[in-house]
Amino acid sequence: MNFRDTMKINDVGHLEIGGRDTVELAKEYGTPLYVMDESYIRRVIRAYKSAIESAYGHGNLAYASKAFSSMAIYSVMKSEGVNIDVVSGGEIYTALKAGFDIKNAYFHGNNKLISEIELAMDNGIGVIVVDNIEDISMIDAIANEKNIVQDVIIRTNPGVEAHTHSYIQTAKVDSKFGFSISNDDAMTAVKAAIAAKNVRLRGLHCHIGSQIFDKHAFVVAVDVMTDFIVEIKKELNYDIDELNMGGGFGVHYTDEDPRYTIEEYCNYVKIIVNALNDAIETKRIKKPYLMIEPGRSVVAEAGITLYTVGTIKDIRGIRKYINIDGGMGDNIRPALYEAKYEAINSTRANENPVEKVSIAGKCCESGDVIIKDVLMPKTVRGDIIAVFTTGAYGYSMASNYNRNPIPAVVLVNDGKSDIIVKRESYDDIIRNDVIPSRLK
Ligand SMILES: *Cc1c(COP(=O)(O)O)cnc(C)c1O
Repeated sequence: MNFRDTMKINDVGHLEIGGRDTVELAKEYGTPLYVMDESYIRRVIRAYKSAIESAYGHGNLAYASKAFSSMAIYSVMKSEGVNIDVVSGGEIYTALKAGFDIKNAYFHGNNKLISEIELAMDNGIGVIVVDNIEDISMIDAIANEKNIVQDVIIRTNPGVEAHTHSYIQTAKVDSKFGFSISNDDAMTAVKAAIAAKNVRLRGLHCHIGSQIFDKHAFVVAVDVMTDFIVEIKKELNYDIDELNMGGGFGVHYTDEDPRYTIEEYCNYVKIIVNALNDAIETKRIKKPYLMIEPGRSVVAEAGITLYTVGTIKDIRGIRKYINIDGGMGDNIRPALYEAKYEAINSTRANENPVEKVSIAGKCCESGDVIIKDVLMPKTVRGDIIAVFTTGAYGYSMASNYNRNPIPAVVLVNDGKSDIIVKRESYDDIIRNDVIPSRLK
């Protein structure tokens, strides 16, 4: 079970998070309910920041906000003095409305719309991450119109594919993201960016995967990236000022995954920094500003989702389904990636597990099962189920499938709780529906 330090079983035998009893939270705000622990998020951010500061002294992090995007989270990042990654006009707009200065934002995307680039530039976006060759001419032309010089970094594909427990080095160039270093594509992009009048090439970027535990993959990626920096210097006499090593640090979903303390998460940073320091020395390159872009590891373990048990279907000798009031609409990951989760019966958190059950969502899809096979105490209608590690790619991937309203998000901290995203109502669900008069 993933009991983070502000998570425990309290005196009345319920799961508690951030000083709040989850059964009480369910009563107060209804279910399904996303609950996010503010202090955990802030402590991860501070730990990454100070690890970069103390080990390297010249860098920062950008929170990859696609993992969990809302106005409140941008406020948190603003107050922590870190950068953000944004990947769409919608994320840019949300950050702006939260008062986040997007001078401290990196704008990613393999198909940035002209309207999105304009929105970004009109509001002073700090860096646009060039993802393909058309980006350069588009950014250059729009920057020219606006009479600005736009900072960019180039997303490269270093040919390191990191998976959960292993990585492979490939010359695979087949990816919708970035420019391959193994052929001439990345160098061509560097030349084009340097040549573009209204573009300033600040640095290079790579992102080698997600949910990575094999840290050696980052060492290999640093090696490839710094080799490329050397090549750029040799061929073009151009200094790369910034190196962005992406995100992808693995988190604990189930006991099949390692479980890291916040300090242990910083080992990812330390390993990248060590490799980079070595390369700076042996390859004699100018010390680049180092960026990392963690998303999942900042918010995943800060979040839980609360559900209320409804119907229970016992197929004797086969499987017992505990049906909950949410499902793939609020957590698509099991259906999409066969992602695994752990959960407890928060109402009976002190009782011994006596039965193996599956936790099934209420959507009309057989694949809408949040957890296959989890041990639970005798569970009955009305019990509150808490699913762990749902803070990343849960709410941000939520949908209205079956016209279920998207749940509320509550931020807890030190015994306090606040709504940061309101629960959708049925009126919210139909707010954009129109019946043409010829159908009336
Ligand atoms: C998704 C993404 C990240 C964050 O990845 P996590 O696995 O959530 O840490 C960082 N950088 C880029 C470019 C991404 O696409």
